[in-house]
Amino acid sequence: MDLNREDKKRLLIREIGKCRACRFCMDVCPTYQATRGVETLSSFGRLQTLKFLLTGMLELDDALVHSLYSCLQCKRCEVICRGKGQNIDICRVIHDGRSLLTENLTEGENDRAAV
Ligand code: SF4
Ligand code: SF4
Repeated sequence: MDLNREDKKRLLIREIGKCRACRFCMDVCPTYQATRGVETLSSFGRLQTLKFLLTGMLELDDALVHSLYSCLQCKRCEVICRGKGQNIDICRVIHDGRSLLTENLTEGENDRAAV
């Protein structure tokens, strides 16, 4: 079944909505560790960033692009989330979120080129 962009967005927001903000996953996130505690570069921070972008509460800028694209897709956070009973598909959410946002940017470019 082919999902349109709004369906994909809704599914991502619903998956992110399962997050209970316990933040236990952050401690094992290598980018969070490497930056000594920058929340936007953690698993939890990326989910929140994505939620705010998808709901239009934030606009994409360089810092937010960095937040999403610096995820290593290592799945360490998912192991913790599963252990806490939420079992959020964090890597897929971040990956699909990147794709959706990239589509938006590309369409914006096309729209401008068509004017
Ligand atoms: S472990 Fe899961 S529920 Fe807890 S903050 Fe991380 S993503 Fe959210
Ligand atoms: S998959 Fe991404 S968010 Fe999760 S622990 Fe690895 S780098 Fe952090």
